[in-house]
Amino acid sequence: MSTLDGYIPMTGFDDLWVWSDETSSKRLEWYRAVAENRLPAKFRIAGTIPVDVDLEQDSEENLWAELNRGTIQLSKRREAIRTGQAELGPKARRPHLLDLCLELSRRMLRHCNFCAWDCRVDRAQGTKLGTCKLDHGTRVSTYFHHIGEELIYRGTKGSGTIFFTSCNMRCAFCQNGDISTDKDNGTTVTPRTLATMAWLLRMEGCHNINWVGGDPIIHLHTIVEAISILTDNMAPPSDQDLEQALSTKSDYLFKMAPETINGLFQDEFNAPMLWNSNFFASSEAMKILRLLIDVWLPDFKFGPGRCGIKLARTSRYWETVTRNLALIEEWREDATIRHLVMPNHVECCTYPVIDWVAENMPEIQINLMDQYHPEMFTNPLGSKYQPKYESLSRRPNDQEILAAYRYARSKGVAFESVTLETPPENPRLANICG
Ligand code: SF4
Repeated sequence: MSTLDGYIPMTGFDDLWVWSDETSSKRLEWYRAVAENRLPAKFRIAGTIPVDVDLEQDSEENLWAELNRGTIQLSKRREAIRTGQAELGPKARRPHLLDLCLELSRRMLRHCNFCAWDCRVDRAQGTKLGTCKLDHGTRVSTYFHHIGEELIYRGTKGSGTIFFTSCNMRCAFCQNGDISTDKDNGTTVTPRTLATMAWLLRMEGCHNINWVGGDPIIHLHTIVEAISILTDNMAPPSDQDLEQALSTKSDYLFKMAPETINGLFQDEFNAPMLWNSNFFASSEAMKILRLLIDVWLPDFKFGPGRCGIKLARTSRYWETVTRNLALIEEWREDATIRHLVMPNHVECCTYPVIDWVAENMPEIQINLMDQYHPEMFTNPLGSKYQPKYESLSRRPNDQEILAAYRYARSKGVAFESVTLETPPENPRLANICG
């Protein structure tokens, strides 16, 4: 069967003007094709690659070595599928590469190194907790069709966004503080309930499954298991699955019946997996994500100075995030970077972030976000306000936002279509960006 047999376009998404922008179409080509079910998502390809290990008996070292071998195979097969030289093929005998990802994520949970804190606590036992304060349980705060994401991700029917609780960073101004600082927020979910949530969002027309928090990396084991369940073709979920999943859903605008036509490739579940993250992941976690994630949406918040420590109590921020960004560039992944312009932090944070992107990822779009508002410890009207964060206690002013735009333009960084949602040739931009 050709990869295009049975392809039915999801009206609207493919017709968005944004795809006429060269930077969007060039570095988001894979994502766009998977969103439209013209190509299989990476996790589907991982399920076709057998691995030669004993998942129960082999050492973690052996499992990683096999993952490295499997990664090379997946990259080659993905490229062949992308260029029309190969078909997806049937599922592999067990264990396959996805089973290996799941086993490795479970092993990591026992000496947790999901993120760069590298706490090494046994979260499976849960007797000692790390920075994220989580044991093995996963809670979802809410999930819905997100219509506030970038146009390339919200499309016409929303981004299928699943918000996990807790976080591994401590941003004083967190814009999702109710979710990230309260580890008991939301509802406990099983991997099967999580898979049902993703299935529902996709079949209701969402263009992607958007894993976010807090930070999703601290829930890696549950997410990998949910993706595994989706690969085993869970559709349709049972009434019990739906009952458990629907209690957490908060869609007010999108009341639509799930239609399997929206999320199938060659008759099985398909959706681009979007990693929406602070990017404080460990390099081991990045190796697993590489096999599952179709498009990356990393934050790049702070410059190389002490802002990561002062504003988020996070050491090694710059080193970790730039290392992970360099990895996705080396792997030629589809991605969009986000940078929240903060008041009084344009020179120490915004400029170095733009400089780094211009030098190291010149083809990637960056969303220079202007919506910062004081929250949590920076909100002078809130009960948690701490005067030491006074410099962050207002919105960025016009001069700061324009300085960010002009600097990006002077460095040749692509930001216009994703930030302003207007094509770069729009004459109005001359006034805005100078
Ligand atoms: S996810 Fe990160 S913060 Fe949480 S225990 Fe693991 S290494 Fe520590």
